[in-house]
Amino acid sequence: MTSPHRIVLFGECMIELRGQVFGAMQQSFGGDTLNTAIYLARLRADKDVKVSYATALGVDVFSEHMIAAWRAESIDTSLVRLLDNHMPGLYAIQVDATGERHFFYWRDTSTARDYFDAPSTPLEDAIGGISMLYLSGISLAILPPDGRERLLSAMARVRANGGQVAFDNNFRPRLWPNLDQARALYDRAYALSDLALITLDDEMTLRGETSAEGALSKVLALAIPEVVVKRGVQPTLVRVAGREPITVPVEPVSQVVDTTAAGDSFAGGYLAMRLTGVEPAVAARAANRTAAAVIQHPGAIIPTEAMPTRNALLAPTPQCLFKPVHRRRTLGKCRFVGTGIPTLYPWITSARFPASSRSYQRSMTSPWATYGRSPISKRSRKRSKHTA
Ligand code: ADP
Repeated sequence: MTSPHRIVLFGECMIELRGQVFGAMQQSFGGDTLNTAIYLARLRADKDVKVSYATALGVDVFSEHMIAAWRAESIDTSLVRLLDNHMPGLYAIQVDATGERHFFYWRDTSTARDYFDAPSTPLEDAIGGISMLYLSGISLAILPPDGRERLLSAMARVRANGGQVAFDNNFRPRLWPNLDQARALYDRAYALSDLALITLDDEMTLRGETSAEGALSKVLALAIPEVVVKRGVQPTLVRVAGREPITVPVEPVSQVVDTTAAGDSFAGGYLAMRLTGVEPAVAARAANRTAAAVIQHPGAIIPTEAMPTRNALLAPTPQCLFKPVHRRRTLGKCRFVGTGIPTLYPWITSARFPASSRSYQRSMTSPWATYGRSPISKRSRKRSKHTA
């Protein structure tokens, strides 16, 4: 992946209300692609690389404030359409007595849906200068059918002009009329992608796949040059065309505060590294660390002062070994389990991981064998599925 001079992220950002029903509510904003844009903008090494966010907003004070906040994050907003008589979408987060979060959406009339309602749009007009176009399953889902076609055609045109397309599968069933339609659109989006960031749980829901192993085999076999598979606390997988898949451990986090935007920040971190030529396995480790920082703070966007530096994200893990392994063996306290997949393994010592962390050690073994046995249950991961 070469260093592009302009990366454009397309999607929807909504107003967020967080608090008690008819009580005090805090206002913010959020959206999966916008979250990724912010983390990418913060972590890019080369400030000459332009990070542009393309969406539609209204002509209202909320929209004005959002644009000002994005600009303050050094995000270019020249591809944003401002549509009269439209308002941004809105969602409310309400925490119940047990601490469970509930999400309520008002997005059916959201402005972003109408981005492509004109004969030409700033995004389409800018295609010649786009080095990478990034979008997600949500970006596709919110658009009406003709808008989806325009977005898919923009993906094809970016590639035809020598640019690249990155797609995050973020699948939200409620945004699709039915699974068949969603699957057909995802297949087309994958076929137009150079990089796919895939959350395995989402892919399983989309495909109606109950076996994680089956889903994993299928996504690793996709005809996409670069595939990154996110699996919560389970090791991340990276498969670059022509090379064996690599597993990259997720370093343990002492206290998970809020998993909102875990995948979005992962994407921002991964792109920030890959766009400057960092190798996929090292980029994935940096992305895991970006997400780790984010989930230790409340909300989707953490304060800038809480951001890890690029150097910290890229620092080697002394306990890690980059080593292909092909058969089961034990070497001192370091455990190798053969999967036929080259693996980035932590040097698991009793000092770093006491006996009580056996589950973590298990999660470091075969990516095929341990799915679902992680310290975080699948159910608790599902609860975090709300980035919009
Ligand atoms: P999504 O947020 O898209 O559903 P995941 O749940 O797979 O995606 O999480 C994305 C990334 O966030 C993971 O690849 C990992 O780096 C990080 N992450 C998620 N949960 C944890 C956790 N409990 N501990 C450490 N890192 C985590």
